[in-house]
Amino acid sequence: MAEIRVPMVRPGLGEVEAEAAARVVRSGWVAQGPEVAAFEAELAAAVGATHAVAVANGTVALELALRALGVGPGDDVVTVSHSFIATTNVVHTVGARPVFVDVERDTYGMDPALLPAALTPRTKAVLCVHQLGFPCAIERIVAIADQRGIPVIEDAACALGTEVRMGGAFQRIGRPYGRIACFSFHPRKIITTGDGGMVTTNDAQLAARCRSLRQHAATSTAEARDRNPLASEAYLEPAYNFRLTDLAAAVGRPQLARLDQAISERRRLAAVYAEALAGHPALVAPTERPDARCNWQSYPVTVRPAGAWNQDRVLRHLHDRGIASRRGLTNAHQEPAYAARGSWGGGPLPVSESLRDNTVMLPLFHGMTAPETDEVLSALREIRG
Ligand SMILES: *Cc1c(COP(=O)(O)O)cnc(C)c1O
Repeated sequence: MAEIRVPMVRPGLGEVEAEAAARVVRSGWVAQGPEVAAFEAELAAAVGATHAVAVANGTVALELALRALGVGPGDDVVTVSHSFIATTNVVHTVGARPVFVDVERDTYGMDPALLPAALTPRTKAVLCVHQLGFPCAIERIVAIADQRGIPVIEDAACALGTEVRMGGAFQRIGRPYGRIACFSFHPRKIITTGDGGMVTTNDAQLAARCRSLRQHAATSTAEARDRNPLASEAYLEPAYNFRLTDLAAAVGRPQLARLDQAISERRRLAAVYAEALAGHPALVAPTERPDARCNWQSYPVTVRPAGAWNQDRVLRHLHDRGIASRRGLTNAHQEPAYAARGSWGGGPLPVSESLRDNTVMLPLFHGMTAPETDEVLSALREIRG
């Protein structure tokens, strides 16, 4: 086993985050409270949303979005197979059936040209993904879904800080363009709270419903009970504990304050890779559409077909040079959990299948050093023809 000297990711955590966690520990209040409220307000402002509701992770953010929109047994959710497995798992968790639409090669996101044919009277929601930090064709997807009155949920787990041009100006993902957007703060994403997530929306009623469902649909909070022990409380419907802790929120806040800096560093690293890969004989760099500014949460390269190099050979070569890398995203319909026909609808999915087999993710993270970048570049130069 080669020693891995360049990791896939190193969380952007420092003394400021350690101090923030210590502050919460010393305060004596570590569960959901004032730090969560502040993190919500700051994230809403950062993405231009009216409301933000913090939750325990990105997966339950998606589940909460589906439940808040009333998606359940007997419903179809039109989504993509080519995503982290959570996107499909949450559809299954709420008892609905995933209907898969193929993706676009360059955005890794839902192909809007294939969307109309996938919508039926059973479709209760469209769940599209801003995959790897590349915005999907959100304007077209929302326009198509709007015509049928179907709500759009944006899986923006990887897309904090990504921008898309809307009506002439660049705006951050998460405003949201659909009804609700979902973020993740897992260490593989742009900012991290260990685990954590957030939903954003401009719909006050939807936000209120998310706040309620996140906390057992209780009519009162722990803080309110402290203020008035005589207040009566009720539990309005069967619900969940999807809460984020103050300890986690406090660690997220300073990273959010540095988001611009993190994104510009990631964009600079992506430009270095793009230059090194221009005209590369075996690998093709990803491209950014003119109406998009990616946060470069990941750096996926495509291995040219029919050359001497394939995905496995590239992964092995990088590993031998001490550089971490990963296969491309999987497809839910090809995983044992969902491979059986009958558990999903839609397809065929030729682009999703080809991307899974021909993509390699390179290390890219803010805080990546120049020597680390140089090691990756020299390993890439060794891959010829
Ligand atoms: C990471 C991720 C999730 C899940 O987020 P967690 O915080 O890990 O639960 C969902 N969808 C996509 C596209 C992701 O990349």
